[in-house]
Amino acid sequence: MTDRTSAPIALLQRWETFCAAHRLYDERMTPEQNDALYGPCAREFGHGHNYRIGVTLKGGVDARTGMIVNITEIKQAVQELILDDMDHRHLNHDSRLMRGINPTAENLAVVCWTVLHERFGALLHEVQIEETANNLVIYRGERG
Ligand SMILES: [Zn+2]
Repeated sequence: MTDRTSAPIALLQRWETFCAAHRLYDERMTPEQNDALYGPCAREFGHGHNYRIGVTLKGGVDARTGMIVNITEIKQAVQELILDDMDHRHLNHDSRLMRGINPTAENLAVVCWTVLHERFGALLHEVQIEETANNLVIYRGERG
């Protein structure tokens, strides 16, 4: 029998896109080792990606609004907290959030999680960073 006394728990997901350049390069390694590890991302002047960021909240569906949160809150948070800092920027040189951080998709996901967690708290379930149509990182705040 369906329990109608407690709120159903659902996932709410919003995707946004941004364009940014980066260079993945470790000065402790030779150029050949960097090429082998990072491929085209190690190019001397960097290169660009058309990134997609997926943000998933998990929470109770409010009986009055029928929503977990208004999805425009996610859209606005991603714009203000992330896209204003990263969109059409070089992540190695021109992003406050990524300063001093190797701009891999994994590190992007962790940084985006951190700023979104400050906004959404326990509602934040998952951040996805799609670097190419073939490469996707998922981060859920776990450490270990
Ligand atoms: Zn790249």
